[in-house]
Amino acid sequence: MRIATVCLPLLCGVSALSAQTPAAAIDWDSIGAETVRDLSAYLAVNTANPPGNELAAARFLQQLLARDGIDAQILDTAELGPGRANLYARYHSSGGKKALALVNHMDVVPVTPQFWSVDPFSGVVKDGHVWGRGALDMKGEGIVEAMALIALKRSGVTLDRDIVFIGNADEEVGGNGAVVFVQRHPDLLRDVEFLMTEGGDNLVHQGKLAYYGVGVAEKRTFWQRLTVRGVASHGSRPTKQNPVPRLIAALDRLARYETPLHVTPGVAKYFHDIAPQYIGRQRVWLSDVMAALKQPAARAWITDNVYWNAILRNTISLTVLSGSNKTNVIPSQASAEIDIRLLPDQDTAAVRAELVRVVRDTAVHWETMYPPKAPLESPIDTDLFRAIVRAAHERDPDAQVTTPMLTGATDRPTYRALGIVTYGFDPFRTEEADAQHGVHGNDERVSVASLAFGVHYLYDVLRYVQ
Ligand SMILES: [Zn+2]
Repeated sequence: MRIATVCLPLLCGVSALSAQTPAAAIDWDSIGAETVRDLSAYLAVNTANPPGNELAAARFLQQLLARDGIDAQILDTAELGPGRANLYARYHSSGGKKALALVNHMDVVPVTPQFWSVDPFSGVVKDGHVWGRGALDMKGEGIVEAMALIALKRSGVTLDRDIVFIGNADEEVGGNGAVVFVQRHPDLLRDVEFLMTEGGDNLVHQGKLAYYGVGVAEKRTFWQRLTVRGVASHGSRPTKQNPVPRLIAALDRLARYETPLHVTPGVAKYFHDIAPQYIGRQRVWLSDVMAALKQPAARAWITDNVYWNAILRNTISLTVLSGSNKTNVIPSQASAEIDIRLLPDQDTAAVRAELVRVVRDTAVHWETMYPPKAPLESPIDTDLFRAIVRAAHERDPDAQVTTPMLTGATDRPTYRALGIVTYGFDPFRTEEADAQHGVHGNDERVSVASLAFGVHYLYDVLRYVQ
């Protein structure tokens, strides 16, 4: 099926823009080869978190940038603990406009080596891919950010915006690297208007690009622990003070509760953008999802998709349960942990009050397990978004550049809380199945072609946003 292109107001007319300064000729083939070599070496720096060991990664990136005369500082070693660090560099412009930050995390999730077909920390290059933990999440993007910066410097392009490069520790566990960086170095971020990092996947399905994704929003984690206290006694003599049935009745009410459907601006745009990939009434429904959700047939079809359902409402997953650890013992308390994910524009106190009302049992004690991060929802009508659209359309003239919401969590809210327009940006064209199996899974790899594509794509975005 031929996919028609919708000319959204935001996307029309961007080709009239032009870069302010011409670039010196860049040998993109050799930049691509350099990117592969550097990523291969970077993947061999084991930063599985815990423990993280990001200081070694920071030193690696510092040397890589130093090769081209870009000074980087290793920061926050005392605050983050032994072997840990953040990294900061700035490439200075003529300074007419505010800065743009490229942010990556240097830690990776641990591996189960026996499930890998290669050594996950060898950085081996084979079958057209660079293999290793972090290739996609997100050392590959970190190297692409560094190489795009280096390419800008080598090309001698005059910039109006400083380009800041930040490598953070600890994104995969507590997000403490970004938190410490923001707390200790507000001066380094004061002039930053735009920030790009992970969290905006491009969708490639069976070799065909479905869309370029820019992550403008993410769900907000709001985990709750529910506890009911009772009186411990022998299971052979049932009592009314057994906390287990009381907790189960509360959980049952929560499980039956349907959270309201709610369309945020980025999600409305996302559905509108992907509508042309569908036919018939499904295309009509997606092109105006707000209207469609009022029709039972459309609502049933849309919410049947687990991803679409999750970006259209607050979600509640009952996950951890604990009561007695012995069959013949009535426990003195029973508890449950609930994975609640909020849309970014929701008020946490109002949501919690609504859930307390649904459970309607004062014996249930509620506890927010971690303070929720700041909400992440960035505006779409920006120079950076237009620069991404322009660079994407130069590569795929008919492709949509759209705004899928992330249902998981990243470090972005930590930076967005400073007012910085924060986007998830994916420089790769990774096959959907490879991304699904590789990120946090086994045999994580990125194609050599994607790396070369990514450096040039990001380089163009950085030029066009000037
Ligand atoms: Zn990541």
